[in-house]
Amino acid sequence: MNIQSMKLIFLGPPGAGKGTISKMAAERLGVPQISTGDMFRTAVKEKTELGLRVQAILAAGGLVPDELTIAIIRERLSWPDVRQSYILDGFPRTIPQAEALAAFSSPDAAVDFEVRDDLILFRLTGRRVCRACGAIYHAVTKPPKVDGICDLCGGELYTRNDDREETVKARLRAYHEETEPLIGYYAGKGRLLTIDGSPDAETVYTTFISEIGRFLKK
Ligand code: ADP
Ligand code: ADP
Ligand code: ZN
Repeated sequence: MNIQSMKLIFLGPPGAGKGTISKMAAERLGVPQISTGDMFRTAVKEKTELGLRVQAILAAGGLVPDELTIAIIRERLSWPDVRQSYILDGFPRTIPQAEALAAFSSPDAAVDFEVRDDLILFRLTGRRVCRACGAIYHAVTKPPKVDGICDLCGGELYTRNDDREETVKARLRAYHEETEPLIGYYAGKGRLLTIDGSPDAETVYTTFISEIGRFLKK
């Protein structure tokens, strides 16, 4: 696929496969993937001022305040690497975030990966992430070749502390209350692409690639 410009938002509940599919697109198409979740987790790990502010929110499965999240994305979108293309993985997550984004960038489409709640719990409790490179695995659907070790870089795999069942429930609640309204918001602008996120990742990626073209400028 030859793309001039591709500015996308990845919507969908936690565990829908936003990280997996956006990393595939980053690798195969060279489109920068921007994950607010990854940015917050890095800040927590490095104990920066931001990290100290958001640590308890992430641990409880709540949403970081809009003001803070918007400021981070606004700054990141001013970098030269994202002038033509980007995939925002996990931003916006609220209507105020979407409205703020519209004031400083014009996404071509919002891609909503649909996955039922029961499948989400299975995906999140089995998720393993590489501490070194951020690669995403699953204990059942995408196990590493060697238990606990990243295929790509040899780093250690870990379970995110917000992937425990109690926290997943809080995150799903936040999703249904705050994020799901964005589906109507982007549909109303004629910019919503809905993809079934439940088949295997290769199938989801192929469907995404075959459908996204009609939202992009020629
Ligand atoms: P998920 O796997 O649920 O999609 P992410 O890695 O995208 O998780 O996000 C992890 C956590 O970071 C969220 O539960 C939330 O606390 C915080 N977060 C990420 N993106 C946003 C956002 N756009 N607005 C508010 N909080 C966010
Ligand atoms: P999100 O970023 O939306 O929270 P992830 O991409 O991190 O979701 O995926 C959550 C978990 O589900 C990971 O363990 C990942 O390996 C697994 N996964 C993602 N997409 C699929 C898929 N299409 N089929 C099976 N498992 C998947
Ligand atoms: Zn790795």
